[in-house]
Amino acid sequence: EQTFKIAVIPGDGIGKEVIKEGLRVLDHLAEESEGKFAFEYDHFPWGCEYYLEHGKMMDEDGVEKMRNYDAIYFGAVGFPGVPDHVSLWGLRLAICQGLDQWANIRPVEFLPGVPHRINHPDPESLNWILVRENSEGEYSGIGGRNFQGRGPGGEVAVQSALFTEKGTERIIRFAFDLARTRKRKKVTSVTKSNAQQYGMVLWDEVFARVAKDYPDVETDQWLVDAMAAHFVLHPEDLEVVVASNLFADILSDLGSALAGSLGIAASANLSPDKSAPSMFESVHGSAPDIAGKGIANPIGTIGSAALMLDHLGLKEEAERVNQAIADTTGQGILTRDIGGTADTVEITDAIIKNLSKVNVEA
Ligand code: NAD
Ligand code: MN
Repeated sequence: EQTFKIAVIPGDGIGKEVIKEGLRVLDHLAEESEGKFAFEYDHFPWGCEYYLEHGKMMDEDGVEKMRNYDAIYFGAVGFPGVPDHVSLWGLRLAICQGLDQWANIRPVEFLPGVPHRINHPDPESLNWILVRENSEGEYSGIGGRNFQGRGPGGEVAVQSALFTEKGTERIIRFAFDLARTRKRKKVTSVTKSNAQQYGMVLWDEVFARVAKDYPDVETDQWLVDAMAAHFVLHPEDLEVVVASNLFADILSDLGSALAGSLGIAASANLSPDKSAPSMFESVHGSAPDIAGKGIANPIGTIGSAALMLDHLGLKEEAERVNQAIADTTGQGILTRDIGGTADTVEITDAIIKNLSKVNVEA
């Protein structure tokens, strides 16, 4: 028997609602494995409520505490009353950067039965995955406010983006290695190097250099504004898309909306050196507009559990979860954001039922 220790951070808003459902799926798998593997969870109540009570988003030694786990399962943070930059930097970014989770992968799944918004005859054949640089770039936190000297109303703020050759090279190599495992073996790099002549020109140069080591991988390069349009107009052209921290964040929301909803997008913050645990979370935020109503779509979070299973070496279970999600949407069991009427618990019940069915057939 193998026991995986999982740190669970539900966070705020719908984060709490969808994590609960993800844990039900994991529990179901563990139960039916009949002792082959088990999950041991520790729950951490960190987030905006915690902040309002304690003046901080997480414990002082929170990042260090995470090192005791095999993986971190994360809901979402952010809630009205706490500035978004406080909740983001105080928890999610603190963990990603503290544990060197420098690669964020975000597959875009075109699921059967989910109304997509894309110009393609067979969207389910698309195989997009976004690779987001997750340690520096526009999220380096370098900058400041209150620069003096311009008189009243003349405050100046500076927000810098940091691109190191090392950080850039490792994420680009990661994207190429990932492309080698996929159908088309194609990497598309996205920058804005016409306007940002330092960091993004360095990125382009590193991309060209690394590409030489992967003659079997097709490459393509775009400016981010044109790529936003390209996502919509030529979806067949994309497979692995690698971009900086900010650009990949924006493009992943676009990708998931094209696939149907932000609620179905999964992601993994990987510490590829395996020196620290990785963190698995949906792409969406805490969605205060629907929080507490029980209608949030849990697919992004359940899909993130599948990425976690895969990372833990439970490849077959990961595939089964993805299959059960596709079976469920294919049966027309959909939450409101993807055109149905099911609530958070109902769609998870159906996914679990489909999981059991897959097992019986196997
Ligand atoms: P959001 O992703 O929370 O919501 C955007 C829209 O998508 C909303 O209309 C919401 O109802 C809908 N939506 C999102 N997830 C859904 C789901 N699972 N099912 C159904 N509908 C869903 O983004 P936002 O409104 O810009 O941000 C809200 C808060 O979340 C802010 O505080 C923000 O900082 C935070 N945020 C956190 C993370 C994170 O924790 N990783 C990511 C993004 C935003
Ligand atoms: Mn985002």
